[in-house]
Amino acid sequence: MTDTATPVRVRFAPSPTGKLHVGGARTAIYNWAFARAMGGTFVLRIEDTDPERSTQENTDIILRAMEWLGLDWDEGPGVGGACGPYFQTQRTDTYEAALQRLIEADAAYPCFCTKEELDEKRRRAEAEEGGYAGYDRTCRGIDPAEARARIEAGEPHVWRLKVPEDHGPVEFEDVVYGHMTFPADVMDDMILKRTDGTFTYNFAVVCDDINMAMTHVIRGDDHLSNTPRQVLIYEALGATVPLFAHLPMILGPDGHKLSKRHGATSVEQFRDEGYRPEALVNFLALLGWSLDGETTVIPPEELCRVFSLDRISKKHAVFDQTKLDWMNGVYLREMTPAAWVEAARPWLAEAVVTGASVDDGVTMVPAPEPGAEPAPRDFGPGDEGWDEALAAALADIDADPAAYERLYPLVIERLARLDEIPAKLEFLFWGAGVRLDEKSVKKVLLKEGARADEALAACRAVLADESVPWEAAAMEAACRARGEELDMKVKNLLQPLRVAVCGNMVSPPLFESIELMDPDDVLARIDAVAAEVLGA
Ligand code: GLU
Repeated sequence: MTDTATPVRVRFAPSPTGKLHVGGARTAIYNWAFARAMGGTFVLRIEDTDPERSTQENTDIILRAMEWLGLDWDEGPGVGGACGPYFQTQRTDTYEAALQRLIEADAAYPCFCTKEELDEKRRRAEAEEGGYAGYDRTCRGIDPAEARARIEAGEPHVWRLKVPEDHGPVEFEDVVYGHMTFPADVMDDMILKRTDGTFTYNFAVVCDDINMAMTHVIRGDDHLSNTPRQVLIYEALGATVPLFAHLPMILGPDGHKLSKRHGATSVEQFRDEGYRPEALVNFLALLGWSLDGETTVIPPEELCRVFSLDRISKKHAVFDQTKLDWMNGVYLREMTPAAWVEAARPWLAEAVVTGASVDDGVTMVPAPEPGAEPAPRDFGPGDEGWDEALAAALADIDADPAAYERLYPLVIERLARLDEIPAKLEFLFWGAGVRLDEKSVKKVLLKEGARADEALAACRAVLADESVPWEAAAMEAACRARGEELDMKVKNLLQPLRVAVCGNMVSPPLFESIELMDPDDVLARIDAVAAEVLGA
């Protein structure tokens, strides 16, 4: 057991065989928050020992994702530290040294059984009653002098751990699962070093956790079955066993382990969909941990004060996208307009470019089939000129970000993700064109007895009247007054205007939007809709 006076040292140890996914990110968050809450040290170690699946590119993606999430590490790639290097491929000499110590202590032995022999033993054992109970320890009894001679003669061999014959149950403490006990007799004399000279995962991890002085090992419960084996290695090396915390699995809403078919699962993907890093950290922290069972909004800096291992649950956590979207909205609304523009730049630029690509006059947009994706646009990513147009729009935003801050109040109340911005705001950049939603046309403009032509004419006259200032409140008051004179309900007066100017019935606040647009464009849209749709 860890002495409570020992300063906490924990690590996140991803294998760079893919991107940083939800499960890994949560493990990182728990280690980070725990280190911060305890005034301890958070180490990042890259477990890149699988030569086929580990890549530099994946390592870079993981480091970038950690940085984006704001999970700063005290030791590890880029920052160094006293226990480096922090890449397993650069630590082979430390594994070799540990193996030599085990050999000297007669706690490891070479095994010359070939793969074919081992397969055959397994097949035979499985056919018998009782089944396969691990390696039968044939080579454990080989005389050391003979073993040395065979090694010197170049005979292929692995190195195995000599699990003590009289070892009772393997025991360890898990903060989540409690006191764990596994019968030692099921423990194989596991391989520590393979024939090709590489070290096994269990051995490397334990060597690193010892040499990096880890006090706690916080990781996914998919590693729970490795832990008794790792405990035997700690014992053989005479090291203190850390305190473990195995985290519950994360399930999709259908009760199956969370995977790609449930939607975005990599941190990168969430970033690209317009989630805020603080929202994602807050949301993931609550997948398996709670402060008091009630509090949902716990910003990262607070998490670093209040996180504790004893509130981790054993129960599987369910990934609830609706809750994540809600939480992201909470964090978006907390941003200042300036910070929002900075974060929303790519999506604002997309709104500008997509909007500007709309032709003058009316373009009808058919309502998509229920559940179907909207029809693709004429101009989008991959098209010639798109990248240049986007770069120009970004430059424009950067030249005058304050101008874009005015868009913030139009959408902020109902924004769940930043990637909703293009669809919600592109109408501001249509110029003299309108993309008219067919459903809104039917329900608002062509509805029986709607008097849409009259409404548009009335509003147009007000908007064209130079004595009415081009300001939301003034325009709205003047339009409403005109509606009263005509004895029209507000809804019948203003919904046609909304559809004609913004393209559909569910736009951001109407007059606040109009105020940001060019008067000539607004009038041109009204004229086009009146002529092309209402034949006025
Ligand atoms: N590298 C292992 C993984 O990515 C983690 C090992 C550990 O945390 O002990 O699953």
